[in-house]
Amino acid sequence: MLFSFLEKSAQLYGKLHGEVGISCDHKRKNTGGAWIYSSCGRDRDSVYLSIVLGAEGMELTDVLGPVLRGWSLPLLIFAVGYLMVGTPHSDIQPRGCSLLEHDHFVVYSKRVVTPNGVYPASVEVKEGRIVSVIRRREAPRSGGGRVHVLNYENAVVMPGLIDVHVHLNEPGREEWEGFRTGTMAAAAGGITTVIDMPLNSFPTTTTKEFLNLKREAAKGSISVDVGFWGGLVPGNVANLTILEELLNSGVMGLKSFMCPSGINDFPMTTASDIQAALPVLAKYGRPILVHAEVVQPVEDTPLLRNGVGGLSDDAKRLHSTYLSTRPPSWEQEAVRQLMEVAKDTARGGPAEGARIHVVHVSDAGGALQYIKEAKENGLEVSVETCPHYLAFASEEIPQGDTRYKCAPPIRNASNRDKLWEALKQGSIDMLSSDHSPAPPELKEIESGDFLKAWGGISSLQFMLPVTWTTGRSHHVTVEQIARWWSSSPAKLANLDRKGSIQFGKDADLVIWDPEQSYVIDENYTIYHKHKVTPYAGWTLSGRIITTFVRGQQVYSEGKFPERQCGMRLSAL
Ligand SMILES: [Zn+2]
Repeated sequence: MLFSFLEKSAQLYGKLHGEVGISCDHKRKNTGGAWIYSSCGRDRDSVYLSIVLGAEGMELTDVLGPVLRGWSLPLLIFAVGYLMVGTPHSDIQPRGCSLLEHDHFVVYSKRVVTPNGVYPASVEVKEGRIVSVIRRREAPRSGGGRVHVLNYENAVVMPGLIDVHVHLNEPGREEWEGFRTGTMAAAAGGITTVIDMPLNSFPTTTTKEFLNLKREAAKGSISVDVGFWGGLVPGNVANLTILEELLNSGVMGLKSFMCPSGINDFPMTTASDIQAALPVLAKYGRPILVHAEVVQPVEDTPLLRNGVGGLSDDAKRLHSTYLSTRPPSWEQEAVRQLMEVAKDTARGGPAEGARIHVVHVSDAGGALQYIKEAKENGLEVSVETCPHYLAFASEEIPQGDTRYKCAPPIRNASNRDKLWEALKQGSIDMLSSDHSPAPPELKEIESGDFLKAWGGISSLQFMLPVTWTTGRSHHVTVEQIARWWSSSPAKLANLDRKGSIQFGKDADLVIWDPEQSYVIDENYTIYHKHKVTPYAGWTLSGRIITTFVRGQQVYSEGKFPERQCGMRLSAL
Protein backbone atom coordinates (compact mmCIF):
# COMPACT_ATOMS: atom_id res chain seq x y z
CA MET A 1 0.00 0.00 0.00
CA LEU A 2 2.63 2.49 1.08
CA PHE A 3 4.88 1.48 -1.78
CA SER A 4 2.14 1.92 -4.27
CA PHE A 5 1.30 5.28 -2.69
CA LEU A 6 4.90 6.43 -3.01
CA GLU A 7 5.29 5.19 -6.58
CA LYS A 8 2.11 6.75 -7.87
CA SER A 9 2.82 10.00 -6.12
CA ALA A 10 6.37 10.03 -7.35
CA GLN A 11 5.29 9.46 -10.91
CA LEU A 12 2.97 12.41 -10.71
CA TYR A 13 5.63 14.47 -8.99
CA GLY A 14 7.96 13.71 -11.90
CA LYS A 15 5.33 14.47 -14.48
CA LEU A 16 4.58 17.81 -12.92
CA HIS A 17 8.23 18.71 -12.81
CA GLY A 18 8.69 17.32 -16.31
CA GLU A 19 6.46 20.01 -17.60
CA VAL A 20 8.75 22.62 -16.16
CA GLY A 21 11.83 20.84 -17.46
CA ILE A 22 13.26 18.93 -14.50
CA SER A 23 16.37 17.00 -15.41
CA CYS A 24 16.47 13.44 -14.19
CA ASP A 25 19.30 11.56 -12.60
CA HIS A 26 20.00 8.85 -10.07
CA LYS A 27 20.40 9.68 -6.41
CA ARG A 28 21.26 7.55 -3.47
CA LYS A 29 20.89 9.07 -0.08
CA ASN A 30 21.61 7.64 3.33
CA THR A 31 19.13 8.94 5.87
CA GLY A 32 20.42 7.46 9.10
CA GLY A 33 20.61 3.80 8.16
CA ALA A 34 17.96 3.71 5.46
CA TRP A 35 18.78 4.00 1.81
CA ILE A 36 16.59 5.95 -0.47
CA TYR A 37 16.98 5.34 -4.16
CA SER A 38 15.36 7.65 -6.57
CA SER A 39 15.54 7.14 -10.26
CA CYS A 40 14.01 9.10 -13.00
CA GLY A 41 13.72 8.62 -16.72
CA ARG A 42 12.44 10.51 -19.70
CA ASP A 43 9.65 8.93 -21.69
CA ARG A 44 8.38 10.11 -25.05
CA ASP A 45 5.51 11.91 -23.38
CA SER A 46 6.47 12.49 -19.81
CA VAL A 47 9.07 12.28 -17.11
CA TYR A 48 8.73 9.69 -14.39
CA LEU A 49 10.32 9.66 -11.01
CA SER A 50 10.25 6.57 -8.90
CA ILE A 51 11.39 6.26 -5.34
CA VAL A 52 12.63 3.04 -3.90
CA LEU A 53 13.00 2.65 -0.18
CA GLY A 54 14.91 0.20 1.88
CA ALA A 55 18.09 -1.74 2.17
CA GLU A 56 18.76 -5.41 2.10
CA GLY A 57 17.13 -7.09 5.07
CA MET A 58 15.15 -4.01 6.11
CA GLU A 59 11.44 -3.64 6.39
CA LEU A 60 9.48 -0.56 5.53
CA THR A 61 8.90 0.26 9.19
CA ASP A 62 12.68 0.37 9.76
CA VAL A 63 13.11 3.12 7.25
CA LEU A 64 10.00 5.15 7.86
CA GLY A 65 11.38 7.14 10.81
CA PRO A 66 14.47 8.54 9.08
CA VAL A 67 12.47 9.12 5.93
CA LEU A 68 9.91 11.20 7.71
CA ARG A 69 12.62 13.31 9.34
CA GLY A 70 14.42 14.23 6.15
CA TRP A 71 11.72 13.86 3.57
CA SER A 72 8.56 15.26 5.08
CA LEU A 73 8.16 17.93 2.42
CA PRO A 74 8.49 15.58 -0.57
CA LEU A 75 6.13 13.15 1.17
CA LEU A 76 3.57 15.90 1.52
CA ILE A 77 3.84 16.57 -2.20
CA PHE A 78 3.53 12.84 -2.87
CA ALA A 79 0.44 12.64 -0.70
CA VAL A 80 -1.25 15.30 -2.77
CA GLY A 81 -0.12 13.45 -5.89
CA TYR A 82 -1.48 10.18 -4.65
CA LEU A 83 -4.91 11.61 -4.18
CA MET A 84 -4.82 12.98 -7.69
CA VAL A 85 -3.62 9.77 -9.38
CA GLY A 86 -5.97 7.40 -7.62
CA THR A 87 -8.12 6.98 -10.71
CA PRO A 88 -8.28 3.56 -12.44
CA HIS A 89 -6.91 3.14 -15.95
CA SER A 90 -7.20 0.58 -18.73
CA ASP A 91 -5.18 -2.54 -17.99
CA ILE A 92 -5.82 -4.65 -21.08
CA GLN A 93 -3.30 -5.85 -23.69
CA PRO A 94 -4.08 -5.58 -27.43
CA ARG A 95 -6.12 -8.68 -28.30
CA GLY A 96 -4.25 -11.86 -29.09
CA CYS A 97 -0.70 -10.50 -28.75
CA SER A 98 -0.07 -11.69 -25.20
CA LEU A 99 -0.86 -14.73 -23.09
CA LEU A 100 -1.44 -12.30 -20.24
CA GLU A 101 -4.45 -10.02 -20.39
CA HIS A 102 -2.95 -7.28 -18.21
CA ASP A 103 -0.71 -4.56 -19.53
CA HIS A 104 0.05 -3.26 -16.04
CA PHE A 105 1.55 -5.89 -13.78
CA VAL A 106 4.40 -6.73 -11.46
CA VAL A 107 6.93 -9.51 -11.95
CA TYR A 108 8.46 -10.65 -8.67
CA SER A 109 11.34 -13.01 -7.95
CA LYS A 110 14.12 -13.55 -5.44
CA ARG A 111 16.69 -13.29 -8.24
CA VAL A 112 16.20 -10.27 -10.47
CA VAL A 113 19.28 -9.48 -12.59
CA THR A 114 19.77 -5.71 -12.66
CA PRO A 115 22.77 -3.53 -13.59
CA ASN A 116 23.33 -3.10 -9.83
CA GLY A 117 23.37 -6.78 -8.96
CA VAL A 118 21.05 -9.73 -8.45
CA TYR A 119 18.50 -9.29 -5.66
CA PRO A 120 14.88 -9.96 -4.69
CA ALA A 121 12.75 -7.36 -6.41
CA SER A 122 9.47 -6.54 -8.03
CA VAL A 123 9.61 -5.24 -11.58
CA GLU A 124 6.57 -3.17 -12.45
CA VAL A 125 5.56 -3.20 -16.09
CA LYS A 126 3.13 -0.74 -17.58
CA GLU A 127 2.17 -0.42 -21.23
CA GLY A 128 5.28 -2.28 -22.33
CA ARG A 129 7.86 -0.41 -20.25
CA ILE A 130 9.51 -1.01 -16.91
CA VAL A 131 8.18 1.72 -14.63
CA SER A 132 9.82 0.64 -11.38
CA VAL A 133 12.27 -1.87 -9.97
CA ILE A 134 11.81 -2.22 -6.23
CA ARG A 135 14.06 -4.23 -3.96
CA ARG A 136 11.88 -6.24 -1.58
CA ARG A 137 12.09 -9.48 0.34
CA GLU A 138 8.56 -10.68 -0.34
CA ALA A 139 6.25 -10.45 -3.33
CA PRO A 140 3.64 -7.70 -3.18
CA ARG A 141 0.09 -8.96 -2.79
CA SER A 142 -2.24 -9.30 -5.76
CA GLY A 143 -5.98 -8.80 -6.06
CA GLY A 144 -8.45 -6.44 -4.41
CA GLY A 145 -7.96 -3.71 -6.99
CA ARG A 146 -4.18 -3.88 -6.69
CA VAL A 147 -1.91 -4.33 -9.67
CA HIS A 148 -1.64 -7.93 -10.93
CA VAL A 149 1.40 -9.74 -9.48
CA LEU A 150 3.24 -12.65 -11.12
CA ASN A 151 5.34 -14.29 -8.42
CA TYR A 152 8.13 -16.39 -9.92
CA GLU A 153 9.70 -17.07 -6.49
CA ASN A 154 13.25 -18.44 -7.00
CA ALA A 155 13.33 -18.32 -10.80
CA VAL A 156 15.80 -15.89 -12.40
CA VAL A 157 14.31 -12.75 -13.95
CA MET A 158 16.75 -11.46 -16.53
CA PRO A 159 16.67 -8.99 -19.43
CA GLY A 160 15.61 -10.83 -22.59
CA LEU A 161 18.50 -11.95 -24.78
CA ILE A 162 19.45 -9.88 -27.83
CA ASP A 163 20.88 -12.03 -30.58
CA VAL A 164 22.69 -9.79 -33.04
CA HIS A 165 23.61 -12.56 -35.45
CA VAL A 166 20.70 -14.58 -36.85
CA HIS A 167 20.02 -15.81 -40.38
CA LEU A 168 16.25 -16.03 -40.84
CA ASN A 169 16.69 -16.37 -44.63
CA GLU A 170 13.36 -14.84 -45.65
CA PRO A 171 12.34 -13.85 -48.27
CA GLY A 172 13.73 -16.22 -50.85
CA ARG A 173 15.05 -19.11 -48.78
CA GLU A 174 12.03 -19.89 -46.61
CA GLU A 175 12.89 -23.56 -46.91
CA TRP A 176 15.97 -22.88 -44.76
CA GLU A 177 14.31 -20.94 -41.93
CA GLY A 178 11.69 -18.20 -41.67
CA PHE A 179 10.51 -15.25 -39.60
CA ARG A 180 7.67 -17.25 -38.06
CA THR A 181 9.57 -20.36 -37.01
CA GLY A 182 12.82 -18.57 -36.20
CA THR A 183 11.23 -16.01 -33.90
CA MET A 184 9.06 -18.65 -32.21
CA ALA A 185 12.28 -20.52 -31.39
CA ALA A 186 13.75 -17.23 -30.13
CA ALA A 187 10.76 -16.58 -27.84
CA ALA A 188 10.89 -20.15 -26.52
CA GLY A 189 14.58 -19.61 -25.80
CA GLY A 190 14.20 -16.32 -23.91
CA ILE A 191 15.50 -14.19 -26.81
CA THR A 192 13.43 -11.02 -27.13
CA THR A 193 15.24 -9.27 -29.99
CA VAL A 194 17.03 -10.69 -33.01
CA ILE A 195 18.93 -8.78 -35.64
CA ASP A 196 18.62 -10.53 -38.95
CA MET A 197 21.62 -10.91 -41.26
CA PRO A 198 21.46 -9.53 -44.82
CA LEU A 199 22.11 -13.02 -46.19
CA ASN A 200 21.05 -15.83 -46.90
CA SER A 201 17.74 -14.39 -47.98
CA PHE A 202 17.15 -13.73 -51.64
CA PRO A 203 17.60 -10.98 -52.52
CA THR A 204 20.22 -10.11 -49.93
CA THR A 205 19.63 -6.87 -47.99
CA THR A 206 21.96 -4.61 -49.94
CA THR A 207 19.60 -1.86 -51.11
CA LYS A 208 16.68 0.12 -49.72
CA GLU A 209 14.27 -1.81 -51.99
CA PHE A 210 15.56 -5.16 -50.79
CA LEU A 211 15.24 -4.02 -47.17
CA ASN A 212 11.62 -3.16 -47.86
CA LEU A 213 11.03 -6.69 -49.19
CA LYS A 214 12.49 -8.08 -46.01
CA ARG A 215 10.42 -5.83 -43.77
CA GLU A 216 7.32 -6.84 -45.73
CA ALA A 217 8.14 -10.55 -45.30
CA ALA A 218 8.48 -10.07 -41.52
CA LYS A 219 5.18 -8.22 -41.17
CA GLY A 220 2.75 -9.96 -38.81
CA SER A 221 4.88 -13.07 -38.47
CA ILE A 222 7.43 -12.30 -35.78
CA SER A 223 7.10 -13.37 -32.14
CA VAL A 224 9.94 -11.12 -30.93
CA ASP A 225 11.34 -7.77 -32.06
CA VAL A 226 13.46 -7.95 -35.20
CA GLY A 227 16.00 -5.49 -36.56
CA PHE A 228 17.94 -5.81 -39.81
CA TRP A 229 21.57 -5.48 -40.76
CA GLY A 230 22.25 -4.22 -44.28
CA GLY A 231 24.88 -5.80 -46.50
CA LEU A 232 28.08 -4.07 -47.59
CA VAL A 233 29.07 -5.44 -51.00
CA PRO A 234 31.30 -4.03 -53.77
CA GLY A 235 28.17 -2.79 -55.61
CA ASN A 236 27.11 -0.37 -52.90
CA VAL A 237 30.67 0.57 -51.90
CA ALA A 238 31.05 1.79 -55.48
CA ASN A 239 27.85 3.80 -55.19
CA LEU A 240 27.64 5.46 -51.82
CA THR A 241 24.19 6.87 -52.64
CA ILE A 242 22.79 3.33 -52.52
CA LEU A 243 24.57 2.79 -49.23
CA GLU A 244 23.21 6.00 -47.73
CA GLU A 245 19.69 5.10 -48.87
CA LEU A 246 20.04 1.74 -47.16
CA LEU A 247 21.19 3.39 -43.93
CA ASN A 248 18.46 6.00 -44.22
CA SER A 249 15.91 3.19 -44.45
CA GLY A 250 16.77 2.05 -40.93
CA VAL A 251 19.24 -0.85 -41.03
CA MET A 252 20.98 -1.11 -37.66
CA GLY A 253 24.39 -1.17 -39.34
CA LEU A 254 26.18 -3.16 -42.05
CA LYS A 255 27.66 -6.61 -42.45
CA SER A 256 30.35 -7.75 -44.87
CA PHE A 257 32.54 -10.74 -45.66
CA MET A 258 36.29 -10.69 -46.23
CA CYS A 259 36.09 -14.14 -47.90
CA PRO A 260 33.50 -15.71 -50.22
CA SER A 261 30.18 -15.89 -48.33
CA GLY A 262 28.90 -18.99 -50.11
CA ILE A 263 26.01 -16.93 -51.51
CA ASN A 264 26.46 -15.63 -55.06
CA ASP A 265 24.57 -12.36 -54.62
CA PHE A 266 26.61 -11.46 -51.54
CA PRO A 267 30.15 -10.94 -52.87
CA MET A 268 33.07 -10.38 -50.56
CA THR A 269 34.63 -7.01 -49.71
CA THR A 270 38.27 -6.18 -49.12
CA ALA A 271 39.64 -4.22 -46.19
CA SER A 272 39.80 -1.13 -48.43
CA ASP A 273 36.10 -1.51 -49.37
CA ILE A 274 35.32 -1.52 -45.65
CA GLN A 275 37.58 1.49 -45.16
CA ALA A 276 35.67 3.38 -47.87
CA ALA A 277 32.36 2.76 -46.10
CA LEU A 278 33.56 3.82 -42.64
CA PRO A 279 33.06 7.60 -43.01
CA VAL A 280 29.45 6.96 -44.10
CA LEU A 281 28.89 4.73 -41.07
CA ALA A 282 30.50 7.37 -38.86
CA LYS A 283 27.93 9.89 -40.06
CA TYR A 284 25.12 7.56 -38.93
CA GLY A 285 26.85 6.30 -35.76
CA ARG A 286 26.28 2.69 -36.78
CA PRO A 287 28.64 -0.30 -36.75
CA ILE A 288 29.98 -2.56 -39.46
CA LEU A 289 30.06 -6.26 -38.63
CA VAL A 290 32.71 -8.24 -40.43
CA HIS A 291 33.13 -11.93 -41.13
CA ALA A 292 36.90 -11.87 -40.68
CA GLU A 293 38.55 -14.64 -42.67
CA VAL A 294 40.83 -14.03 -45.64
CA VAL A 295 41.72 -16.90 -47.96
CA GLN A 296 45.43 -17.64 -47.59
CA PRO A 297 47.84 -18.96 -50.24
CA VAL A 298 47.49 -22.70 -50.81
CA GLU A 299 51.10 -23.40 -49.84
CA ASP A 300 50.19 -22.36 -46.28
CA THR A 301 47.49 -25.06 -46.18
CA PRO A 302 49.31 -28.40 -46.72
CA LEU A 303 46.12 -30.37 -47.35
CA LEU A 304 45.14 -28.11 -50.23
CA ARG A 305 48.46 -28.25 -52.05
CA ASN A 306 47.20 -31.18 -54.09
CA GLY A 307 43.59 -29.98 -54.03
CA VAL A 308 40.74 -31.58 -52.11
CA GLY A 309 39.81 -33.71 -55.12
CA GLY A 310 42.41 -36.33 -54.27
CA LEU A 311 41.06 -36.91 -50.75
CA SER A 312 39.41 -40.21 -49.88
CA ASP A 313 35.72 -40.32 -48.89
CA ASP A 314 36.79 -41.18 -45.36
CA ALA A 315 39.03 -38.12 -45.18
CA LYS A 316 36.15 -35.90 -46.33
CA ARG A 317 34.06 -37.24 -43.45
CA LEU A 318 36.54 -35.94 -40.86
CA HIS A 319 36.04 -32.59 -39.19
CA SER A 320 39.83 -32.35 -38.89
CA THR A 321 40.04 -32.32 -42.70
CA TYR A 322 37.65 -29.39 -42.90
CA LEU A 323 39.50 -27.67 -40.05
CA SER A 324 42.79 -27.84 -41.91
CA THR A 325 41.21 -26.13 -44.93
CA ARG A 326 40.44 -23.03 -42.82
CA PRO A 327 43.42 -22.58 -40.49
CA PRO A 328 43.62 -19.80 -37.84
CA SER A 329 45.86 -17.85 -40.23
CA TRP A 330 42.72 -16.95 -42.25
CA GLU A 331 41.17 -15.25 -39.23
CA GLN A 332 44.46 -13.73 -38.12
CA GLU A 333 45.20 -12.11 -41.47
CA ALA A 334 41.67 -10.75 -41.81
CA VAL A 335 41.66 -9.26 -38.33
CA ARG A 336 45.14 -7.82 -38.86
CA GLN A 337 43.94 -5.98 -41.98
CA LEU A 338 40.76 -4.92 -40.28
CA MET A 339 42.50 -3.48 -37.23
CA GLU A 340 44.68 -1.42 -39.58
CA VAL A 341 41.52 0.02 -41.11
CA ALA A 342 40.07 0.53 -37.63
CA LYS A 343 42.71 3.23 -37.04
CA ASP A 344 40.39 5.53 -38.98
CA THR A 345 37.90 5.28 -36.10
CA ALA A 346 40.32 6.92 -33.66
CA ARG A 347 39.53 10.35 -32.27
CA GLY A 348 40.21 12.92 -34.95
CA GLY A 349 40.45 10.19 -37.61
CA PRO A 350 38.52 10.27 -40.91
CA ALA A 351 35.91 7.83 -39.55
CA GLU A 352 35.58 8.95 -35.94
CA GLY A 353 32.20 7.66 -34.71
CA ALA A 354 32.26 4.49 -36.81
CA ARG A 355 32.66 1.12 -35.10
CA ILE A 356 34.02 -2.21 -36.31
CA HIS A 357 32.64 -5.42 -34.87
CA VAL A 358 34.25 -8.78 -35.61
CA VAL A 359 31.62 -11.52 -35.76
CA HIS A 360 32.02 -15.05 -34.44
CA VAL A 361 35.72 -15.09 -33.65
CA SER A 362 36.95 -18.67 -33.36
CA ASP A 363 40.73 -18.26 -33.09
CA ALA A 364 41.65 -17.45 -29.50
CA GLY A 365 45.26 -16.76 -30.50
CA GLY A 366 46.55 -14.12 -32.92
CA ALA A 367 43.14 -12.88 -34.07
CA LEU A 368 42.06 -12.00 -30.54
CA GLN A 369 45.44 -10.50 -29.80
CA TYR A 370 45.08 -7.98 -32.67
CA ILE A 371 41.63 -6.99 -31.36
CA LYS A 372 42.93 -6.62 -27.82
CA GLU A 373 45.73 -4.32 -28.97
CA ALA A 374 43.34 -2.23 -31.06
CA LYS A 375 41.08 -1.76 -28.04
CA GLU A 376 44.07 -0.78 -25.89
CA ASN A 377 44.89 1.86 -28.50
CA GLY A 378 41.41 3.33 -28.09
CA LEU A 379 39.98 2.14 -31.40
CA GLU A 380 36.25 1.52 -31.72
CA VAL A 381 36.25 -2.25 -32.07
CA SER A 382 34.31 -5.08 -30.50
CA VAL A 383 34.05 -8.82 -30.98
CA GLU A 384 31.62 -11.66 -30.44
CA THR A 385 31.98 -15.42 -30.27
CA CYS A 386 29.28 -18.10 -30.38
CA PRO A 387 28.32 -20.80 -27.89
CA HIS A 388 29.27 -23.53 -30.39
CA TYR A 389 32.91 -22.44 -30.18
CA LEU A 390 32.62 -22.64 -26.39
CA ALA A 391 30.67 -25.91 -26.26
CA PHE A 392 32.42 -28.13 -28.78
CA ALA A 393 35.98 -29.14 -29.66
CA SER A 394 37.11 -30.35 -33.08
CA GLU A 395 38.65 -33.56 -31.75
CA GLU A 396 35.30 -34.55 -30.19
CA ILE A 397 33.23 -34.15 -33.37
CA PRO A 398 32.10 -37.58 -34.63
CA GLN A 399 33.10 -38.72 -38.11
CA GLY A 400 30.60 -37.63 -40.75
CA ASP A 401 28.62 -35.41 -38.34
CA THR A 402 28.22 -32.32 -40.49
CA ARG A 403 25.79 -30.68 -38.04
CA TYR A 404 28.94 -29.15 -36.52
CA LYS A 405 30.15 -27.51 -39.70
CA CYS A 406 30.40 -23.73 -39.54
CA ALA A 407 32.83 -21.04 -40.66
CA PRO A 408 35.23 -20.24 -39.15
CA PRO A 409 35.47 -23.82 -37.94
CA ILE A 410 35.25 -25.16 -34.40
CA ARG A 411 38.86 -25.54 -33.21
CA ASN A 412 40.48 -27.73 -30.55
CA ALA A 413 39.77 -28.01 -26.82
CA SER A 414 42.68 -25.85 -25.74
CA ASN A 415 41.50 -23.05 -28.06
CA ARG A 416 38.01 -23.46 -26.55
CA ASP A 417 39.37 -22.94 -23.03
CA LYS A 418 41.20 -19.81 -24.15
CA LEU A 419 37.99 -18.44 -25.67
CA TRP A 420 36.26 -18.91 -22.31
CA GLU A 421 39.07 -17.05 -20.56
CA ALA A 422 38.91 -14.20 -23.07
CA LEU A 423 35.15 -13.94 -22.66
CA LYS A 424 35.39 -13.85 -18.89
CA GLN A 425 38.18 -11.27 -18.96
CA GLY A 426 36.25 -9.05 -21.33
CA SER A 427 38.51 -9.37 -24.40
CA ILE A 428 35.43 -10.89 -26.08
CA ASP A 429 32.52 -8.52 -25.60
CA MET A 430 29.45 -10.60 -26.30
CA LEU A 431 27.84 -13.76 -27.58
CA SER A 432 25.60 -14.44 -30.55
CA SER A 433 24.09 -17.60 -32.01
CA ASP A 434 25.02 -17.27 -35.71
CA HIS A 435 21.91 -19.41 -36.14
CA SER A 436 22.29 -20.44 -39.76
CA PRO A 437 20.27 -23.52 -40.58
CA ALA A 438 19.86 -25.19 -43.96
CA PRO A 439 17.77 -28.13 -45.18
CA PRO A 440 19.25 -31.55 -44.21
CA GLU A 441 20.13 -32.29 -47.87
CA LEU A 442 22.38 -29.23 -47.99
CA LYS A 443 23.95 -30.20 -44.68
CA GLU A 444 24.96 -33.49 -46.41
CA ILE A 445 23.64 -35.40 -43.40
CA GLU A 446 23.51 -38.59 -45.51
CA SER A 447 26.99 -38.48 -46.99
CA GLY A 448 28.67 -36.81 -44.00
CA ASP A 449 30.98 -34.95 -46.41
CA PHE A 450 32.37 -32.02 -44.45
CA LEU A 451 33.77 -30.36 -47.54
CA LYS A 452 30.45 -30.32 -49.43
CA ALA A 453 28.09 -29.61 -46.52
CA TRP A 454 26.60 -26.15 -45.95
CA GLY A 455 28.43 -24.36 -43.15
CA GLY A 456 26.00 -23.16 -40.53
CA ILE A 457 24.79 -24.35 -37.13
CA SER A 458 21.18 -24.39 -36.05
CA SER A 459 20.88 -23.45 -32.39
CA LEU A 460 18.79 -20.31 -31.74
CA GLN A 461 16.37 -21.84 -29.23
CA PHE A 462 19.14 -23.25 -27.01
CA MET A 463 21.42 -20.26 -26.55
CA LEU A 464 20.59 -19.39 -22.94
CA PRO A 465 20.61 -22.97 -21.56
CA VAL A 466 23.74 -23.85 -23.57
CA THR A 467 25.61 -20.79 -22.27
CA TRP A 468 24.55 -21.66 -18.74
CA THR A 469 25.19 -25.41 -19.02
CA THR A 470 28.66 -25.02 -20.54
CA GLY A 471 29.47 -21.91 -18.52
CA ARG A 472 28.89 -23.48 -15.14
CA SER A 473 32.17 -25.41 -15.25
CA HIS A 474 33.81 -22.02 -15.91
CA HIS A 475 32.03 -20.44 -12.91
CA VAL A 476 29.92 -18.16 -15.06
CA THR A 477 27.30 -16.03 -13.28
CA VAL A 478 23.85 -14.94 -14.45
CA GLU A 479 25.10 -11.35 -14.40
CA GLN A 480 27.83 -12.23 -16.91
CA ILE A 481 25.25 -13.94 -19.10
CA ALA A 482 23.09 -10.81 -18.99
CA ARG A 483 26.09 -8.71 -20.06
CA TRP A 484 27.16 -11.01 -22.92
CA TRP A 485 23.63 -11.60 -24.18
CA SER A 486 21.75 -8.38 -23.38
CA SER A 487 23.53 -5.18 -22.39
CA SER A 488 26.57 -5.47 -24.71
CA PRO A 489 24.55 -6.49 -27.81
CA ALA A 490 22.09 -3.64 -27.08
CA LYS A 491 25.01 -1.22 -27.13
CA LEU A 492 26.36 -2.62 -30.40
CA ALA A 493 23.01 -2.22 -32.17
CA ASN A 494 22.17 1.16 -30.56
CA LEU A 495 19.10 -0.33 -28.88
CA ASP A 496 18.92 2.26 -26.10
CA ARG A 497 15.57 1.04 -24.82
CA LYS A 498 16.66 -2.57 -24.48
CA GLY A 499 19.23 -4.75 -22.75
CA SER A 500 18.70 -4.26 -19.02
CA ILE A 501 16.10 -4.34 -16.26
CA GLN A 502 15.98 -0.68 -15.45
CA PHE A 503 13.49 2.07 -15.13
CA GLY A 504 12.18 3.28 -18.51
CA LYS A 505 13.45 0.33 -20.58
CA ASP A 506 11.28 -1.95 -22.69
CA ALA A 507 9.85 -4.76 -20.57
CA ASP A 508 11.79 -7.47 -22.42
CA LEU A 509 12.21 -10.24 -19.87
CA VAL A 510 13.12 -13.90 -19.68
CA ILE A 511 12.19 -15.86 -16.59
CA TRP A 512 14.04 -19.14 -16.23
CA ASP A 513 14.95 -21.85 -13.78
CA PRO A 514 18.72 -22.46 -13.77
CA GLU A 515 18.39 -25.56 -11.60
CA GLN A 516 16.11 -27.53 -13.89
CA SER A 517 17.60 -29.95 -16.43
CA TYR A 518 16.08 -31.66 -19.45
CA VAL A 519 17.16 -33.63 -22.48
CA ILE A 520 16.88 -32.43 -26.08
CA ASP A 521 15.24 -35.63 -27.29
CA GLU A 522 12.32 -36.48 -29.58
CA ASN A 523 9.86 -35.37 -26.87
CA TYR A 524 11.39 -31.90 -26.68
CA THR A 525 9.71 -29.38 -28.99
CA ILE A 526 12.13 -27.55 -31.27
CA TYR A 527 10.57 -24.60 -33.07
CA HIS A 528 13.28 -24.08 -35.72
CA LYS A 529 12.11 -25.03 -39.20
CA HIS A 530 14.63 -27.87 -39.27
CA LYS A 531 15.25 -29.90 -36.15
CA VAL A 532 18.82 -30.85 -37.15
CA THR A 533 21.13 -29.43 -34.47
CA PRO A 534 24.34 -30.57 -32.78
CA TYR A 535 22.67 -30.01 -29.40
CA ALA A 536 20.28 -32.96 -29.99
CA GLY A 537 20.77 -35.49 -27.22
CA TRP A 538 22.33 -32.93 -24.87
CA THR A 539 21.17 -32.58 -21.29
CA LEU A 540 20.71 -28.86 -20.74
CA SER A 541 20.36 -26.96 -17.48
CA GLY A 542 18.16 -23.88 -17.41
CA ARG A 543 14.53 -24.18 -18.38
CA ILE A 544 12.85 -21.14 -19.93
CA ILE A 545 9.57 -20.58 -18.08
CA THR A 546 8.26 -17.51 -19.85
CA THR A 547 9.31 -14.63 -22.11
CA PHE A 548 7.96 -11.08 -22.30
CA VAL A 549 8.54 -8.72 -25.22
CA ARG A 550 7.58 -5.11 -24.40
CA GLY A 551 5.30 -6.42 -21.66
CA GLN A 552 3.58 -8.93 -23.91
CA GLN A 553 3.84 -12.51 -22.71
CA VAL A 554 4.94 -14.14 -25.96
CA TYR A 555 5.86 -17.57 -24.60
CA SER A 556 4.92 -19.54 -21.52
CA GLU A 557 5.53 -23.24 -20.86
CA GLY A 558 5.14 -24.29 -24.52
CA LYS A 559 2.32 -21.86 -25.33
CA PHE A 560 2.29 -18.85 -27.67
CA PRO A 561 -0.40 -16.16 -28.08
CA GLU A 562 -2.75 -16.24 -31.08
CA ARG A 563 -0.95 -13.42 -32.87
CA GLN A 564 2.72 -12.69 -33.46
CA CYS A 565 3.12 -9.06 -32.50
CA GLY A 566 6.89 -8.54 -32.60
CA MET A 567 7.99 -5.13 -33.86
CA ARG A 568 10.21 -4.51 -36.86
CA LEU A 569 12.93 -2.29 -35.45
CA SER A 570 14.44 0.56 -37.32
CA ALA A 571 17.59 2.52 -36.54
CA LEU A 572 15.92 5.82 -37.34
ZN1 LIG B 1 26.48 -15.68 -39.85
